[in-house]
Amino acid sequence: MKIFDPHIHMTSRTTDDYARMAAAGIDTIVEPAFWLGQPRTHVGSFEDYFLSLLGWERFRASQFGIRHFCTLALNPKEANDPAVAEGVLALLPKYLEKDGVVAVGEIGFDDQTPVEEMILCRQLELARAHALPVLIHTPHRDKVRGTERTLAILREQAFPEEMALIDHNTEETLPLVLATGCWAGHSIYPDTKMDEARMAALVKRYGPQRILVNSAADWGVSDPLKVPKTVEVMRASGISIDAIERIVWHNPVAFFAQSGRLGLESTPIDQRALHEGNSVLRGQSPVVAVAADASAS
Ligand SMILES: [Zn+2]
Repeated sequence: MKIFDPHIHMTSRTTDDYARMAAAGIDTIVEPAFWLGQPRTHVGSFEDYFLSLLGWERFRASQFGIRHFCTLALNPKEANDPAVAEGVLALLPKYLEKDGVVAVGEIGFDDQTPVEEMILCRQLELARAHALPVLIHTPHRDKVRGTERTLAILREQAFPEEMALIDHNTEETLPLVLATGCWAGHSIYPDTKMDEARMAALVKRYGPQRILVNSAADWGVSDPLKVPKTVEVMRASGISIDAIERIVWHNPVAFFAQSGRLGLESTPIDQRALHEGNSVLRGQSPVVAVAADASAS
C-alpha cells in the first residue's frame, strides 16, 4: 500500500529512517516548518532552515525514493519571540512562492497568548494571499479550548474550512473538527497522545472522511514508521482496505493538492545525483534507477 505521511520533521531524522520508511511503503511526505527545540536568535536562522527544507532535505528524501514537500510558517512557539517574529513574517511571502511549498504551517496556538492569536490571523491572511491551504497545530495544554478557539478564528476570518487541516487531534477534539468542513490530522506517538489502537477505534466510530494520520516524528521520542504501523492495526481491527487507503493516501493527496503544487509523477532514485555539489553517500556504491513507487502495491 502506498503511504503518505503528512507531518514529519525529517531534518531531525537519519538516512536509516529514510530507508526504513521507503521499505514500509512511505512514498510521499510533508515536512512542516516548526520549532527546533531551542529558540533561534536570528531571523537568518529561519531563512536557512526554510532553504534547507526546500533544498537539501528534499534532495535527501529523493535519494531514497521518497517525494518530499514542505509547509512554511512562523511556528506557534516562536511567534511569542519579538526578536524574530516580525522578521520571519516578512520573509514568508518570498518563500511561499516556491515550488515544493504545499501549505502555510505549522501555525496555531502553543500557550494560547494574544500574540499567538494575532500571528495566527496574519498567517491565515498570507495563506489566502498565496492561495495555499493551512496546517494548524493544536496545543498540548488545554487542547479542547485551543481547538475551539482555532475553529472560531477560522469562522471569524471566513477562511475556507476545506483549506484547513487541524492537527494532533484526540477523542475530545475530533468531533469538534468534523462538525466543521476542516480536515482532521492525528499524530501517532510511542507513549503519549494518540496511539494506533485508539486511532483505529476513532476510524471505526467516525469513518475515514477528512481523517489523516501522521507520525509527527522529530527530534523527540517519536517513530517515523507510525503511519505504516497504524495501517497494520487498522487492518487487523477489520477496517476495510478502501477506508485505510483513503486515510493514508487519498485524503492527504486531496488536501495538499489544493496548493496546485503536489506533483506526484514518479522519479527514479539516482544516488549519483548531487545537491550543490554534495551527496548523501559516504563512498558507498550509488543506487540508481529504482522507480520511486517500486514499493507500492
Ligand atoms: Zn510538528
